[in-house]
Amino acid sequence: MHERVIQLQDALRHQISQYLVNDKDIALINKAMAFAIEKHEGQVRKSGEPYVTHVIEVAILLAQLRVGPSTICAGLLHDTLEDCGVSKDEIKKLFSADIATIVESVTKIGNLSFKDEKEYLAVNHRKIFIAMAKDIRVILVKLVDRLHNMRTLGFQSEEKQKKISAETLDVYAPIAHRLGISEIKNELEDLSFHYLYPEKYYNVANLVETRKAERDQQVTDMINDISTLLNEHGLNHRIFGRSKHLYSIHKKMTIKNKRFDEILDLLAIRIVTDDNVNPYEVLGYIHATYRPIPGRLKDYIAMPKMNMYQSLHTTIVGDEGHIFEVQIRTESMDAIAERGVAAHWRYKEGTSKDKEQKEIEDRLSWFKDFGLLSTDIDDDDAQEYMEAVQKDIFEANVYVMTPKGRVIDLPNGSTPIDFAYRIHTDVGHSTIGSIINGVLLPINTQLKTGDVVQIRTSKQSNGPSEDWLKFVKTSHARVKIRNFLLKKEEAERKATIVKGEQIFKDEVKKRGLENSELVTRAKVESVLHQFNLKTMDECYYSLAARSLTTAALFEKLVDQRKNILDLGFGRLFKPAPQKKTISKSGIKVSGVDSMMISLSQCCKPVYGDEIIGYITKGQGVKVHRIDCPNIIKEKSRLIEVMWDETFDKGKYEVELSILANDRSYLLTDIVTVVSQYKASIQSVNSIVNEDKVTATTTIKVNVDDSNHLQVLIVNLRKVNSVISVERITR
Ligand code: MN
Repeated sequence: MHERVIQLQDALRHQISQYLVNDKDIALINKAMAFAIEKHEGQVRKSGEPYVTHVIEVAILLAQLRVGPSTICAGLLHDTLEDCGVSKDEIKKLFSADIATIVESVTKIGNLSFKDEKEYLAVNHRKIFIAMAKDIRVILVKLVDRLHNMRTLGFQSEEKQKKISAETLDVYAPIAHRLGISEIKNELEDLSFHYLYPEKYYNVANLVETRKAERDQQVTDMINDISTLLNEHGLNHRIFGRSKHLYSIHKKMTIKNKRFDEILDLLAIRIVTDDNVNPYEVLGYIHATYRPIPGRLKDYIAMPKMNMYQSLHTTIVGDEGHIFEVQIRTESMDAIAERGVAAHWRYKEGTSKDKEQKEIEDRLSWFKDFGLLSTDIDDDDAQEYMEAVQKDIFEANVYVMTPKGRVIDLPNGSTPIDFAYRIHTDVGHSTIGSIINGVLLPINTQLKTGDVVQIRTSKQSNGPSEDWLKFVKTSHARVKIRNFLLKKEEAERKATIVKGEQIFKDEVKKRGLENSELVTRAKVESVLHQFNLKTMDECYYSLAARSLTTAALFEKLVDQRKNILDLGFGRLFKPAPQKKTISKSGIKVSGVDSMMISLSQCCKPVYGDEIIGYITKGQGVKVHRIDCPNIIKEKSRLIEVMWDETFDKGKYEVELSILANDRSYLLTDIVTVVSQYKASIQSVNSIVNEDKVTATTTIKVNVDDSNHLQVLIVNLRKVNSVISVERITR
């Protein structure tokens, strides 16, 4: 066997022996190691090393995080599904269902491609990542997998280095931070920093390097002094110097706009005390001996960070006026600080729980940092937390993938047809079937997060059918289908007209009227009203559809004396009856009879709005709001219209756009207000804006009238963090 593999195997066994004692666990890990070695046989990394070194390194990193045996095994097996043709069932049979599931999820996430598409901003990427992971252990494996890949990124092309680094900085480092795994977060940041901005990286590195020997000496002296002080008081501790990672210095210099020599905590010391030592006591002695800088004391013990980090931070002035940042915490706090949720996860997987461990679990509040859970949820089962988090972010969305791994987000309840139209309109129109996770399933199947969807298309397909409208969920697909059906109808109508024209011409010929004045367009049009028809096209259509016979038409044509009525607008506005017309829309139009009156779709007036009518060509009167931008420039064709107060009011659909600072429960609060005010919701769509701070929520609701709408808008504006609420005009 390759020497490096043997070395790493030993290293892994050594790491594991540090905390796993159960023979069964160790045997399982050895079995997974042997399996990985066998399956990756012959595969080589870009570095030239056997591929299996990667998965063993991943397992070592996991062991350093002190995760449980299943997670270690999953780390060893994480690339077997993808690269070695091993099946999930095989892993399930040989190891466990649990391990197989973790490996499968890791593989799925690996297939996500976080492209630079605007719709998938970093925030969304992280959300998708978490949604897909479903299990903290999956995230841990994926994080260390990425860490090892970042460590060996030097063997990749420059283009790949930049792409992977950007993704790491956007998606992976923040997740490591959320999970409180600062070691991994710092290393991921520094590695990405190095590949993305080499010049800046070396600039900061040089700044740190200059006078490093001097600074090191200062830290060593200070450590000795403090250590002596604490020992005098019998306070057991470890103490060491700590260097700030380069990316955080870079951020301080750029974001806080500080000069390098203004960064106070470059000289940093960490004191880790035995668990039975009180960190506040240590702080007391240090403050009594060295002058603390006011305003720099941070008590993360009383107020832990959301990722459950606990520590005391203070900044003091040393003997020669040098400034030091000092962090003080106990061993168990240190475990959490370094390994975050992984320190917790160890206890979840089999090993015994003592009181202290239980305490750590109780403090597992990192999910709050996602801004997704309210504080009243007090359940120590991390798995349940995970589900709650997912439910919260994802109740409105499903994330599915193309076979190539592109993530498509769709509203809950979406079907392969919605998916197909999102890919491309032509794909939607020519869909004939759908394959979900490799299985041929009906095109109205509801998709679930993580589904891999493949659309079967055919050029011979008849296009979308009316039935599709019954189950599609996205308005995008709905619009495309409607348009297609309308066009199809229009095409059929045109064909019918052509056919009718032929019938007419044949009849003219038959009657020998080719050169007769009787069959000129003007003459024919002048008799059409008698058949309740307006245009020649309508006439042709009626002939082809046999709702008008040639015999009846030609009889009228020949009997010219009857052709006296002039047509046109006059027919529309019958002068005689002054009665008012009430249409389905609840609108009165004075002096107009038998007209179709409808509410315009662009500004969607509701009962009580100030309105005006617009006489369309052929579609009756469209009623707009008086301030509708589409109508404001119109000078002619306008007609006064009024709401009919005797009309039994219906429901009016309006669309609102709500701009707000994004926060947890924003959508829930909006929806709550809408239902409080008894407006029924037709659809909701919320996106985080490009500034990553604000979110725009578009909501379609039904209201009774303009008063109702006004009350709703006023109360939506009162929702915490809402900036504005606007009615949408399209
Ligand atoms: Mn890997």
